[in-house]
Amino acid sequence: MAEYTGYCVKCKAKDRKMVNAKEVEMKGRGDKMRRAATGSCEKCGTKMYRILGSK
Ligand SMILES: [Zn+2]
Repeated sequence: MAEYTGYCVKCKAKDRKMVNAKEVEMKGRGDKMRRAATGSCEKCGTKMYRILGSK
């Protein structure tokens, strides 16, 4: 399983590891689907997400 990192707004930490990370699809500009990863901060449990970019 892939590991993802993101920015935690609560810890103000970059590259925080996400726990229970999973890939989702989000509708972006122009009705294009964008892949993103969502998960929780490993330290405080705050929800995080990261845009993975479109392919
Ligand atoms: Zn955090």
